Amino acid sequence: MQQADIGLIGLGVMGANLALNIAENGYRVAVFNRTVAKTREFYEEAGSLKGQIIPCETLEDLAKNIRAPRPIILMVKAGEAVDEQVAALKPFLAKEDIIIDAGNANFHDTVRRLAELGPNDPTFVGMGVSGGEEGARHGPSIMVGGTPESYARIEPVLTAISAKYHGESCSALLGPDGAGHFVKTIHNGIEYADMQMIAEVYGVLRDGLGLTPEAIGRIFEKWNNGPLNSYLIEITAKVLAATDKKTGEPAVDVILDSAGQKGTGRWAAIEAQMLGIPATGIEAAVAARSISSLVKERSEASKAYGDLGTAKLLDGGQAFIDALEEGLLAGKIAAYAQGFDVMAGASKEHGWNIPLATTARIWRAGCIIRSQFLDQIAAAFEGREGKNLLLAPAFVERMKTGSQSLRKIVAEAALAGLPTPALAAALGYFDSFRQARGTANLIQAQRDFFGAHGFKRIGEEGDFHGPWSEAN
Ligand code: NAP
Repeated sequence: MQQADIGLIGLGVMGANLALNIAENGYRVAVFNRTVAKTREFYEEAGSLKGQIIPCETLEDLAKNIRAPRPIILMVKAGEAVDEQVAALKPFLAKEDIIIDAGNANFHDTVRRLAELGPNDPTFVGMGVSGGEEGARHGPSIMVGGTPESYARIEPVLTAISAKYHGESCSALLGPDGAGHFVKTIHNGIEYADMQMIAEVYGVLRDGLGLTPEAIGRIFEKWNNGPLNSYLIEITAKVLAATDKKTGEPAVDVILDSAGQKGTGRWAAIEAQMLGIPATGIEAAVAARSISSLVKERSEASKAYGDLGTAKLLDGGQAFIDALEEGLLAGKIAAYAQGFDVMAGASKEHGWNIPLATTARIWRAGCIIRSQFLDQIAAAFEGREGKNLLLAPAFVERMKTGSQSLRKIVAEAALAGLPTPALAAALGYFDSFRQARGTANLIQAQRDFFGAHGFKRIGEEGDFHGPWSEAN
């Protein structure tokens, strides 16, 4: 039998779809799954693609069925499962082979796994894949961390299976070792912020304007034809239009208001904190999911506090709806600026040299945050890598007016007692960022007062202490 071009371990939601995608693109793929029954089931259901698939029931069998040097994609549960699979696989592989971890790994694990490999072990590549089930099947966005040599070896398959934006592949090598998984983590952090801001605007439309899900869905559908055009806005419109089969009620109205999280958004916020780079939109979105899980406490608190007299219907005229559209876009711009800043900071810290324009380009299709907006971000980074997006001339112009809408909706929502934590965080970030003289002079003075930490004086070198003993 003709050997496979590539191997894939893990036939769960992502792995099974990725394997079919590889097969459909003309590459032979050998597959293995820990639970053998799943491998058999997958093969039986592969239909016309069966001829491109070699189902394997042992790892030894898998290795034998791939043409050397072997590239093998791991698409298993992130964490220990990856370590277990690497250890189990190694005895059957050679130095020239490549293990590609395509799960949502924490980039620290990817760096560790690479460091743990001996001189005769196969190479390890950390690859972020975004787009969910649909993306895996028909074209995801692929963020690779590894050496140029390993990427060159797997590039033809990755280019073939990746999403295309006007014919351009959404797969790229973004740096060595953990760079790919780091970029995927920040992608997910931005995704959290984007989804949270959309949910906050939905909240204002629902509770501030008293609109039905259907009416809100129509607004999002309209916005999807404008500058907010994106996959997330598109699916929001569809979700809001859907009806629950059991009750006949709008589907969103029968869903519990408590959102789960698997960890990548939290990792993004943690990494931003560790780097000392503000990512308030992402942090607020992660915190909002945590608050959402406090279902019982929120119910108690709503009884304890009532509406505090703030509840009122907002002016739902077209001008306010337009402000919501423009304000949401401004909030998004600030959150994306933060996410890209975190990547720039990590790139510097780890010596990764992540190309930000390329990163924005491979997010234009295939991934969950895909949008035309990312095309504008890519253009803004072209030739000015590493500078905050809010300083790119095209975005300065948009934020001059957009921030005023953001301010209006955050203020109106606050006065009506409606929570907009991510939008408010984005506004706070924007206003702090554009303030040439901030208020940290007072923080410096306080730190010096209680801890003799010293402070810098305007226009003078050296450390100084204040006249606090006299004030005591
Ligand atoms: P899934 O449907 O739950 O499948 C998990 C796979 O991992 C199964 O093949 C399972 O094998 C295997 N596995 C679990 N523990 C294992 C172990 N200890 N040793 C060997 N194999 C083990 O998960 P998924 O959604 O496809 O996700 C796979 C990876 O992709 C994860 O890292 C996930 O975070 C990432 N990811 C998911 C999405 C998404 O939208 N779902 C998007 C991007 C990235 P068994 O059949 O034997 O249990």
